[in-house]
Amino acid sequence: VKLVCSDCNQTYSADPRIWRCTHCGAWLDFRAVPFRRETVEARDQTLWRYRAMIPLPPNAPIVTLGEGGTPLVDAELDGHRVYFKLEFLAPTGSFKDRGTTVLVSALKAAGVTHAADDSSGNAGASFAAYAARAGIAATLFVPSYASPAKLAQIAVYGATLVKVDGPRENATLAAEEATRDAGLVYATHAWSPFTLQGTKTIAYEIAEQLAWRAPDVFIAPIGQGTLLLGAQRGFAELLDAGLISKLPRLIGVQSVGCAPIAEGFQRGLTRAVPIDKKHTIAEGISIAKPVRAAQILRALRATGGTVVTVTDDAILEARASLARRGLFVEPTSATVVAALKQIEVSGIVVAALTGSGLKSATS
Ligand SMILES: [Zn+2]
Repeated sequence: VKLVCSDCNQTYSADPRIWRCTHCGAWLDFRAVPFRRETVEARDQTLWRYRAMIPLPPNAPIVTLGEGGTPLVDAELDGHRVYFKLEFLAPTGSFKDRGTTVLVSALKAAGVTHAADDSSGNAGASFAAYAARAGIAATLFVPSYASPAKLAQIAVYGATLVKVDGPRENATLAAEEATRDAGLVYATHAWSPFTLQGTKTIAYEIAEQLAWRAPDVFIAPIGQGTLLLGAQRGFAELLDAGLISKLPRLIGVQSVGCAPIAEGFQRGLTRAVPIDKKHTIAEGISIAKPVRAAQILRALRATGGTVVTVTDDAILEARASLARRGLFVEPTSATVVAALKQIEVSGIVVAALTGSGLKSATS
């Protein structure tokens, strides 16, 4: 199994230590994996029921905390039925665990003993937990403004926490610099092709939960876009296998304060637009330069989707509206409901609720 550069087509072995093309700097991806329904392990309720579609070496140790298998719960929203995929019930409280279980399993299989990542919080907490599970030392570079609850979670798992002042991007630069030193692997969730091989399982699960149908609409917040891109990949593999008859429209949500993908989409561009980022309570999607921006824009357009931007006030209102339906999520996750109040959608709508309200508990 090989990784392919998205730009110059250079191929690489599937090694989690290679996080981007060394020739041109673009991101790498696995080729599509044929989905074979007969290989689904019916008794396994975790995402590893789809092991045959996850490109790890046959003898790779699986580093798992029981992730995946999240409920799909419907609720009425302004007279429309919406199915919520409760990703916040994951082992560390966010959807990130889907990507992390695959990435850390790959690191373990490659014999990595110390790895670093940068994160606004949820990916860091997820990485810290799975690294602990694997016996891999973890160093996390985080913006110093991240939620205290997320920073505490990372520290409690035993990871080394490096707080970096300034915008989110400074944490990325610090991680890249520190990992140029040999011995510390840059296990970047945003760049890693292994991440998408985990997040794609959300599409498999949704299709199974809808009795092998695709929803008409799938809506998720976009920061680095790893959930949306994973979903697109998963649905595309199901379509290739003839198990669903169409791709859902993919709808991404960004905060008005940080909307590089929305800007690029509206202007008809193939890349994100450099933006002047403002503060937003949706800290999980406060990403000014998503590394896979071009790929996200392509995915949105290819499915007839769009990007919606929402204000902090609308996010808080949406969070309260979800909570009154028994669903307590962090502000970043509530963006999907704020977005659904702004646009017309029809048919089967699935919205990902990505992160737990306990991560940023304020009333
Ligand atoms: Zn390349």
